[in-house]
Amino acid sequence: MTPPHMQGAHFRLALTPEGWRRNLSARFAPDGTVAALTEDDNPLGLPVYENPVVPGITNLHSHAFQYAMAGLSEVRRNPVDSFWSWRDIMYFFALTLSPEDMQAIAARLYLALIKGGYTGIVEFHYVHNDLDGTPYARREELSLAIFEAAAATGLELTHLPVFYAHSNFGGLPPTDGQRRFIQDLDGYAAIIEALKGPAAQAGHRLGIAPHSLRAATADEIARLMELRQSVLPDCPVHIHVAEQVKEVEDALAWNGRRPVEQLFDIAPVDERWCLIHATHLIDAEVAQIARSGATVGLCPMTEANLGDGIFRAAEYLHQGGHFGIGSDSNIATFAAQELQQLEYSQRLRDRQRNVLAAPGQPHVAANLWSQAALGGARAAGRPDGALRVGGMASFVELTSPEPAAMAPVDSEAALDFHVFAGRGFHVGDVCVRGKRVVSAGRHPREEAILADYAAAMQRVSQRLAERNEGGRR
Ligand SMILES: [Zn+2]
Repeated sequence: MTPPHMQGAHFRLALTPEGWRRNLSARFAPDGTVAALTEDDNPLGLPVYENPVVPGITNLHSHAFQYAMAGLSEVRRNPVDSFWSWRDIMYFFALTLSPEDMQAIAARLYLALIKGGYTGIVEFHYVHNDLDGTPYARREELSLAIFEAAAATGLELTHLPVFYAHSNFGGLPPTDGQRRFIQDLDGYAAIIEALKGPAAQAGHRLGIAPHSLRAATADEIARLMELRQSVLPDCPVHIHVAEQVKEVEDALAWNGRRPVEQLFDIAPVDERWCLIHATHLIDAEVAQIARSGATVGLCPMTEANLGDGIFRAAEYLHQGGHFGIGSDSNIATFAAQELQQLEYSQRLRDRQRNVLAAPGQPHVAANLWSQAALGGARAAGRPDGALRVGGMASFVELTSPEPAAMAPVDSEAALDFHVFAGRGFHVGDVCVRGKRVVSAGRHPREEAILADYAAAMQRVSQRLAERNEGGRR
């Protein structure tokens, strides 16, 4: 699917880094960035957007396959269900999927995301091996399934093959349930090498991702940094860190250092790094991450769903820290839901309102949306996620099926309504790098993607039922 490149567009109202601006003509460069932005009355006769337009957000953390199990783990099976009992269900599910299923699920997810305010995705991809744990004939088989899904939907992909070798701190051996994830350093390097050509051809970016300090040792992370230096210099580096209290306790038990402390001890964390979750932080860690220039990858809906905890967003943003948002387990697919949950978590904890506004931007939604768009693009290794010269020409038109019930759509409150007022999350056109991939809420490949997904889910349900049967015998 290759929609035509747009020359530009005229926005009646657009969210820019300086806040909302009216009557902007944007011209797009062939590489899909904004070449010029002027306030005028559209002398070039560019296509006009009457509805408010906001920069598209790059979703900086997803495990696509988990979209198909969202909703399957909302039944209490233990006296105390937790992240760890959820993870057992996730492992069981991961052990049923074929490459064809992966592709169909990822395409369905990416279709939902692109209609949910996102124009880019960072896929943190850790299912590599066949069902029995052996590598596929093409080691990169499942990464290529993700590539296909992104190409089918037009969502801009940064793909992170994940290095996963151990089950806990201290290089403990992996468990049988983790067999589809496990790589050694040579196997990992082979996947990266094999993906370089196809990624360049399709316009995808690649990055490096040690799964966590549980799954990769300090020595292995050092070797991954050497690999990065020789094969993908300056590429993004993402890692899960300090998501769960138990993870912090295990880290302390192992060497007396908290996960974020350990990470800064062993790795050159800088603005190319993205620390996923970073939920459980002490004061010094909040300051250290903010100072490093790294991006924190917040996944507020998943963190709520899994009972992870509350990120210290108010203090972190106050110290100038960067963040972006990810859909992680894909329990939610709208950027607005993630931002709403982020703000509400702070309100519930602090018993205040409008916690995450900024001195220069009193609208919480506009502040969070702008920062998440910037942070997501940074974490993806892309140009600026902002409607300004040099930024990506990726944007989302906000609409309502019932305009009269909304705030006057031609107002700066439109995004407040979109994020907080619960009138449904609707988008009109979505443009990715100067190409219109959704027109008036419709994606041209919608029917085919939904049909493939339905077929995949039928196969998966059957296999799950067979395995459940087997388990009972
Ligand atoms: Zn994750």
